[in-house]
Order: sequence, then C-alpha cells, then structure tokens
Amino acid sequence: MRLTTIKLAGFKSFVDPTTLHLPTNMTGIVGPNGCGKSNIIDAIRWVMGESAASRLRGDSLTDVIFSGSSARKPVSQASVELIFDNSDGTIVGEYAKFNEISVKRVVTRDGQSQYLLNGGRCRRRDITDLFLGTGLGARSYSIIEQGMISQVVESDPEALRHHLEEAAGISKYKERRKETESR
Ligand code: ATP
Ligand code: MG
Repeated sequence: MRLTTIKLAGFKSFVDPTTLHLPTNMTGIVGPNGCGKSNIIDAIRWVMGESAASRLRGDSLTDVIFSGSSARKPVSQASVELIFDNSDGTIVGEYAKFNEISVKRVVTRDGQSQYLLNGGRCRRRDITDLFLGTGLGARSYSIIEQGMISQVVESDPEALRHHLEEAAGISKYKERRKETESR
C-alpha cells in the first residue's frame, strides 16, 4: 500500500485547493521555514483520525481551518483527502477489492467533522479499523517528524513494545481482544 496523492483545501496554510502527488515510495518535504511542511504532516494525521488538537499544533479542532491572512479572508471549512494505491492488497476485508482507496475528512467552523471512505460517509472508527496493523495511523511510525527518532530511541519499554507490535501487525488483534474482554 502506498500513499499516492494528498488533496488539501482550506487546511491551515493550504487555503486554495492543492494536490500533491507522491510518485515514489519515499518522499521528503523540503522548503523554507514556515512554508507549510509540518502542515502537510498534520493533514495526514488529521485525516487518519487524530482527535487531539495539541497533536496538530492547535488549541481546538477548528484551528486546522485557514484562519485568514493579511491578503485573504478566513474560510469556513477544511478538507483533506488521501488516496492510497492498494493494488498490493494490504487492505483486507470489505475494501480489499479496491485498487484505490480514498480517505477524506471535512470539518466546518461549527465543529462538525465528517469522514468519508471512497466517497461514502463513515465513522472515524471505520478508518482507524481499516488501517490498524498496516503501519499507517494518526500516531503510527509511518510518519516520521522532527524529533521522533529520538523519541523512539528514548521510549520506555512499554512504548517501544507498542511500536514493535504495530510494525509486526499484531496490534489489530490485541485491540480486538481488549474490546471483547471489556464487553
Ligand atoms: P519549519 O521549517 O519552521 O518547521 P514548516 O514548513 O513546517 O516550517 P508549518 O509549521 O507547516 O511550516 O507552517 C506554518 C505556517 O502555517 C505559518 O505561516 C502559519 O501562520 C500557517 N498556519 C498554520 N495554521 C494556520 C491556519 N489555521 N490558518 C492560516 N495559516 C495557518
Ligand atoms: Mg515544521
């Protein structure tokens, strides 16, 4: 599975609809300070279901919406869409039949948040479930930011185990067991 396209509109500094193509397996984002590199990372985490505003460097969830600049008025909603190539069959189950999987999230100023999977409304849970164990998630190791390497190296044994379990693909089953046990 590979992330091939990111589409942003009204998200943080990306006020105009912007499409980013990621043509290879490894992508680096470079540019001057403040040009929006970290905003792209925030966008990916956000679509994958991040619900803690602080993890997106904001105070509230609507802080991801473009808040205006000296030249532009604020906008009323933010949206981000990620398109994945699933032709290697990483995603199993109901969505396995799709070579391309689109995950989208939209938020409006009144705080309404919507998730869509291949264009259809879904719950946040459906997205986190779909990607659990694939290595991609709002807080997974697929997205390596500034400072994260040292965070992993300095992790306590419990946190390190969590990273390893996600990499090995067993976190999915642990999560399901926990759910069953709590019923
Ligand atoms: P650095 O190299 O310093 O890490 P960066 O390329 O990672 O910089 P970002 O943090 O992605 O930069 O972008 C910062 C810019 O995004 C700032 O100019 C900030 O004003 C703008 N920005 C962030 N949130 C919003 C928002 N909600 N509305 C408008 N602009 C925003
Ligand atoms: Mg940055």
